[in-house]
Amino acid sequence: MSLFETKNIVKQFGGLAAVNNLSFTVEKGEILGIIGPNGSGKTTVFNLISCFFPLTSGEIYFKGKRIDQAPAHNICKLGIGRTFQVVKPLKRMTVLENVTVGAFLRTNSMSKAKLKAEETVEFCGLGQFKHNEAKSLPIALRKRLEIARALASDPELIMLDETCAGLNPKESEEAIVIIKRIREAGTTIIIVEHIMKVMMGISDRILAINFGSQITIGKPQEVARHPEVIKAYLGDDHA
Ligand code: ADP
Ligand code: MG
Repeated sequence: MSLFETKNIVKQFGGLAAVNNLSFTVEKGEILGIIGPNGSGKTTVFNLISCFFPLTSGEIYFKGKRIDQAPAHNICKLGIGRTFQVVKPLKRMTVLENVTVGAFLRTNSMSKAKLKAEETVEFCGLGQFKHNEAKSLPIALRKRLEIARALASDPELIMLDETCAGLNPKESEEAIVIIKRIREAGTTIIIVEHIMKVMMGISDRILAINFGSQITIGKPQEVARHPEVIKAYLGDDHA
């Protein structure tokens, strides 16, 4: 049994099928990358998995249990965490306080939540900024805070949406080190990034989509050679 599975998921916004009949699995410990041009439905897939939006049709399973009817806060409790493409820290709270909020999902004890937050902040390389207000952080650190908040809730599966967007190459590399560390710690990952090189280097498998539908799924090198993938990214001339 796969850790995670979608079966024929569809999301219709009025006349637009933002996600169109996608079926895929994610195995425990795997990094699955999702690629596709802008507007191809990647963030919507995350919104469907986290039950932020209801499905138009289809089914979603986590650890063999159907989860697509659950309220959004239960998804987190079940062990699926996420970051947002547009980061959403609690701006006037410190880094540590922001992460503590995430940790409260698993405990009612302030001391336990703080301990978990301290660990997570260190894990994400935010130790020296822990008492800074979230709004004072530059984008690269806000993105890391976003990861830390999600990790503090101890997810078994984490969805990372464009964590490297807006970062310079050095900052991206640092983010990738953190992402690899998350996987080494045993967390399964679904990742969306625009930079192909990042996706090729980090993903075990890649799901390529366009107009909400699957183009192909497989090993990064196979996906990168697929004519439809090349066409979706570079236009007809290159296919
Ligand atoms: P991606 O993350 O791949 O860039 P999105 O999932 O954000 O793409 O968007 C897929 C399509 O769905 C786009 O055409 C977008 O305009 C549309 N869309 C996304 N969210 C909504 C919404 N809440 N209401 C209406 N249309 C939406
Ligand atoms: Mg997106």
